[in-house]
Amino acid sequence: MTQRGRLVVISGPSGAGKTTVCRALRRDPRVQFSVSATTRRKRDGEVDGVDYRFLTQAGFDAALARDEFLESATYNGNRYGTLRAPMEEALAAGRVFVLEIEVQGTRQLRARGVDGIYVFVVPPSLAELERRIRARGQNTEEEIADRLRIAEEELRAKDLYDHVIENDDLDRALAEVRRVIGL
Ligand code: ADP
Ligand code: 5GP
Repeated sequence: MTQRGRLVVISGPSGAGKTTVCRALRRDPRVQFSVSATTRRKRDGEVDGVDYRFLTQAGFDAALARDEFLESATYNGNRYGTLRAPMEEALAAGRVFVLEIEVQGTRQLRARGVDGIYVFVVPPSLAELERRIRARGQNTEEEIADRLRIAEEELRAKDLYDHVIENDDLDRALAEVRRVIGL
């Protein structure tokens, strides 16, 4: 019988480097990433079904009513949710299933006692976080201000996580992430 896989939750404030860390993890064939549903608009270069399942508000409500989400949350006015079915399939197949979600979603998983390895990626400082968000060049001034405000709140939630990893040097942080999730 195949050994059941493990669930990994990765969170961290916007700009901390989650996407960069996850991009490196994606190259590992033992790893499968959760494709979340969201109501936010698709950014340039994003592909439906790969980066997210892009849903309308009504589509999201319908999936919620069918109890398809393991957790869901509203972040910055948009809705996001983790779909249960792909997760069950991946765990049954023995894979490492990675959720990249924000803090409210993590709180729901903890409240439900969902077993997993919970990792929080943090920036070296708020000033460096702001520099990275600006350097990424994807957000308006208003969005940047919102994300920094949310980041300050999110940083207070680090007790929800088993491992808090500072993304100062990317290679070092990545090595630490791999170690704590057993890859
Ligand atoms: P998140 O997914 O957490 O919002 P990203 O992975 O998009 O964050 O990273 C935000 C920006 O910071 C990107 O432009 C990325 O290239 C850069 N970045 C990520 N990690 C580091 C690091 N260790 N040092 C410097 N810049 C980084
Ligand atoms: P973005 O819109 O920048 O892709 O993501 C915004 C935030 O939503 C990020 O913190 C990301 O981790 C989080 N997120 C993405 N998918 C989900 C999900 O399914 N559930 C929850 N709770 N958060 C998610």
